Amino acid sequence: MEDIFALGDTLGPAKVIHVSQPQLGLQGVLVVDNVACGPAIGGLRMAEDVSTAECARLARAMTLKNAAAGLPHGGGKSVLYGDPKMAPADKEELIRAFAFALRREEDYIFGPDMGTNEECMAWVKDEIGRSVGLPCEVGGIPLDHLGATGWGLSQAVAMAIPYCDFALTGARLVVQGFGAVGKHTARFLAERGVTLVGASDSRGTLHDPAGIKVEELIRIKNQGGSVLDYPTGNKADRDAAIDLECEIWVPAARPDVLHEDNVHRLRTKLVAQGANIPLTLGAEQYLHSKGVLCLPDFIANAGGVICAAMEYHGSSQTEAFRTIAEKIRDNTQQVLVEANQDGILPRQAAINLATRRVERAMTFKRWGIF
Ligand code: NAD
Repeated sequence: MEDIFALGDTLGPAKVIHVSQPQLGLQGVLVVDNVACGPAIGGLRMAEDVSTAECARLARAMTLKNAAAGLPHGGGKSVLYGDPKMAPADKEELIRAFAFALRREEDYIFGPDMGTNEECMAWVKDEIGRSVGLPCEVGGIPLDHLGATGWGLSQAVAMAIPYCDFALTGARLVVQGFGAVGKHTARFLAERGVTLVGASDSRGTLHDPAGIKVEELIRIKNQGGSVLDYPTGNKADRDAAIDLECEIWVPAARPDVLHEDNVHRLRTKLVAQGANIPLTLGAEQYLHSKGVLCLPDFIANAGGVICAAMEYHGSSQTEAFRTIAEKIRDNTQQVLVEANQDGILPRQAAINLATRRVERAMTFKRWGIF
């Protein structure tokens, strides 16, 4: 078994819990990384190839993301081994049993992640009463439908403009991954006068320098179509989005899409990270050396988790959206000021900001991390 504690540091992990029930074929792990700021919020990931080490890394990412967002929540994550597309009744049984096994781990609040959704969170809520990302019928705020993360990204972009040499109005936007995050980012930025000139999905890339009608493209995607079904513009392969010239480039698809071997192809001035870790560190360092500003993922894409935390505390959609705007604007500003003053990557400034908050919260706790 991996020695997760040997990989840890002064921030965590505080607890690693392995859960198994051989008759059900249930095998899962909970990592509570650090709860100095409050009970941990983090997703339940279901996949056949999850691991304790992956769970620990994701739990740490949540400690930093929640602290950076200024939420009264620490970081944790859980993983469940299995094919998320298994028969629905089997999936429900596994998730319910896993949640029940963790019913006394009150330091952890379940959220949706890869392989789980709002229905899964409703089962968890029914078992133990602690989950976020719920269906609206049981008090949830439908964050992907409303575009909570895209709303937050649009705020981060607006705050970054004073650090760039272009105006928001008339700026050209390319979105890689026109899904829940990508389409709402395009929608909110279009409302501020930005022109969408490129969008991609898993099937290909659409490019129209004259501008793409965002509402029309969203309608096509919502009906199950692809960006390639848009009636006008040029069509190309999936990775062609990297080459499209623009002022704002938003990765909103997968991790590690920009790396040392392809980052030199990018022709943009601002990268606003919607996906989690869409750039390798080397790619971020390269862009920094070329004067391209990169807004780090856990600052810019925190709208979803802020919305989830607001849901947990019983807030309305309106309050949640106001809080997302306030927190992301404030955090983006702080990160960019520090990055500029100290000549460091915005990502390093963001890590410093989050770590300072966690370490200060730890000073108020008798046992630090828990
Ligand atoms: P989604 O499944 O709704 O959308 C993803 C889109 O990316 C789809 O249109 C898909 O076709 C496309 N895609 C997949 N692989 C691609 C590729 N290689 N090139 C181009 N397009 C590709 O997912 P989402 O909820 O929008 O999440 C997108 C990313 O943002 C994920 O990495 C997710 O972890 C991260 N994220 C999501 C949220 C949220 O609130 N949903 C919050 C923070 C981070």
